[in-house]
Amino acid sequence: MIVDERFRSYICSLERSNGELLDALEQTALETDVPIIRKETQSFLKTMLVMNKPKQILEVGTAIGFSALLMAEFAPADCRITTIEKYEKRIPLAHANFERFGRSHQITLLEGDATLLLGELTQTYDFIFMDAAKAQYVNYLPDILRLLAPGGVLVSDNVLQDGDIIESHFAIPRRNRTIHARMREYLYTLKNHPLLETTIVPLGDGITLSVKREA
Ligand code: SAH
Ligand code: MG
Repeated sequence: MIVDERFRSYICSLERSNGELLDALEQTALETDVPIIRKETQSFLKTMLVMNKPKQILEVGTAIGFSALLMAEFAPADCRITTIEKYEKRIPLAHANFERFGRSHQITLLEGDATLLLGELTQTYDFIFMDAAKAQYVNYLPDILRLLAPGGVLVSDNVLQDGDIIESHFAIPRRNRTIHARMREYLYTLKNHPLLETTIVPLGDGITLSVKREA
């Protein structure tokens, strides 16, 4: 927990429903331990999408499709979404959800490891949502920067690691040290990259918002 629980629950108490279908899918995900974006993060994404009006969205980490379907709801009607997932158990569930929500024509699910698939993509995207394996973010970054259109927006989820990010390397359990070091490297790179303007937002599990400069 990064933010005081009472602030979090107050902020969340103001949230509106995402509609019956999406609320039910969120409930299913929570009950089946599928790690979907939190309420506060949903709200942030929705606001960003209404502001940015992207025509092409790329998501890394589909899970069962909740965030992709949420983005489809709040992006312009003619927006196309490409989303990547490698976990075989979740892929059929995501396909079924896209079908059930009538979004199969709009959302393309790429099945496989983002490390490989990102390298094969060639078009540019005006909104990228990074929500996969945290230790890999920094490795995806060269492809992400190549795929992000000038003026495009990159949102990354789970960057503050439940608060662990501020702890010293030595205070982190050994098994988490690699991911801790890599996330710090990711945040440093986002903050110092000449092509990006980035803000780190302590919301949900911590997110970053980066905009790619026009030139
Ligand atoms: N964005 C989703 C939640 C994604 S959870 C939502 O909010 O609804 C993160 C997902 O990333 C998991 O399902 C995991 O299987 C997937 N993932 C992790 N590493 C990956 C990789 N290298 N390539 C593709 N998918 C990956
Ligand atoms: Mg996440």
